[in-house]
Amino acid sequence: MTDRGVSTGTGASITDAVVEEYRAGLRGRLLRPGDDAYDEARQLWNGMFDRQPAMIARCVGAADVVRAVNFGREHRLLLAVRGGGHSFPGHSVCDGGLVIDLSRMRGIRVDPVRRAARAEAGVKWIDLDHETQAFGLATTGGTASDTGIAGLTLGGGLGWLSSKYGLTVDNLISADVVLANGRLVTASATEHADLFWGLRGGGGNFGVVTSFEFQLHMVGPTILGGMVAYPLGQAKEVLRFYREFNKAAPDELTTYAAFVTPPGGETVIALFCCYSGSVDQGEEVVQPLKVFGPPAQDQLGPMPYVALQQILDEGFPAGSSYYTKGDFLADLTDAAIDIFAEAAATKPSPLSGVLVQTVRGAAGRVPSDATAFAHRRLPYAPVIVSQWREAADAQKNVAWARDFGKALERVAGGGVYVNDLSHDDMDRVRAAYGLNYERLAALKKKYDPDNLFRLNPNISPAP
Ligand SMILES: Cc1cc2nc3c(=O)[nH]c(=O)nc-3n(C[C@H](O)[C@H](O)[C@H](O)COP(=O)(O)OP(=O)(O)OC[C@H]3O[C@@H](n4cnc5c(N)ncnc54)[C@H](O)[C@@H]3O)c2cc1C
Repeated sequence: MTDRGVSTGTGASITDAVVEEYRAGLRGRLLRPGDDAYDEARQLWNGMFDRQPAMIARCVGAADVVRAVNFGREHRLLLAVRGGGHSFPGHSVCDGGLVIDLSRMRGIRVDPVRRAARAEAGVKWIDLDHETQAFGLATTGGTASDTGIAGLTLGGGLGWLSSKYGLTVDNLISADVVLANGRLVTASATEHADLFWGLRGGGGNFGVVTSFEFQLHMVGPTILGGMVAYPLGQAKEVLRFYREFNKAAPDELTTYAAFVTPPGGETVIALFCCYSGSVDQGEEVVQPLKVFGPPAQDQLGPMPYVALQQILDEGFPAGSSYYTKGDFLADLTDAAIDIFAEAAATKPSPLSGVLVQTVRGAAGRVPSDATAFAHRRLPYAPVIVSQWREAADAQKNVAWARDFGKALERVAGGGVYVNDLSHDDMDRVRAAYGLNYERLAALKKKYDPDNLFRLNPNISPAP
């Protein structure tokens, strides 16, 4: 048999025989170019990237992950780690090298008495919500149900419940992690507490998490949620109203502003809400939103929590190409509002949009150095997301996001959400970790001194 040779992604060399020996020791599958499932397994949610890894290890348990990390380290392979596959910069698949694919690790165990859930690292929010809502429980998760719990949690985790219950990382009880040296450890407030701090916002720099344990809360199953929408022409007055409304809102309410274009329709400014307390109280709290304007569309009312968790899914289909520019803002100033309104009015694709998420209430009261997620005092997290389907449309959509990203940087508070970085934003990594960068660099030196895990918003090990 001819040795196909293996592209390690780092210039090191490795033979087929070595790969076959590795394959034999796995419980999950090892996929290589030409294998039937290889092309499907290397696809990313962001269709902008078409990468060709030498190997994809479809891990089915921690033992496979340990083996993959050891194999990668010993043979100097470029490593990518894949949870839900929704990384904007496409970091979860590499060219050459080895993908540690956790997408088959989907086990979840809910403990309704302790109000806690342990979930494996390939779980998506739609899975976790399904299991926890069976007991009327939930934890803060992102706004698209197809995203993975892994990447989202490791970046911080902004979601509909974050004003009331904090970011996803504020609800992390513990995580099992395979370190660069191949050891499996548990990180929590009492075990490897320094690692636990770094995992909560450190962007996957310290090891491969095999499972997460989350604190759950009584939520739903029916909450008050949905959206009100106004014509684009009213965008500036709506956002100024939203700014004041948000300042007085109780923690139970999380409201995001978004410029979206429904299929075949006109672009609108929408205010999406989740009130996680009682529906009756929620009706009262959101009343000002229903009379201001008044809105052209009012779809704000009692709904299943899981339906709210999926409300934005259709707008972000897998396989489209995506490019982002994000920032944090200390306030929704008139200057920022002008930028959003102009961006929405000039977007080159109806699929593109602007989403303004928030870090307020419980999420905003956590000290900025209590977890690796630093930007607790910058309450608005806008992200400009351009989306297109044809390669010919790439340039104008990327240029649009870049132009408005630059404009936004001039009025921004000096940080960016680590999970909103695009592939050409890696010079903003320090800004993403903010005041916690030096401490993270020291932690990187301790847990991953050779930077084995570097396909991420990468922290250089401290000298
Ligand atoms: C449509 C959409 C909506 C979003 N909405 C929100 C939102 O509301 N709130 C929010 O906070 N974020 C949001 N995000 C950003 C999201 O958090 C990131 O894209 C996140 O990286 C997705 O996680 P994933 O597991 O699907 O990604 P993946 O691509 O699988 O992973 C991303 C990166 O995380 C690291 N990683 C993944 N799994 C592991 C692991 N087990 N161990 C170590 N490192 C790992 C790797 O570096 C990997 O490259 C959204 C993204 C999209 C695409």
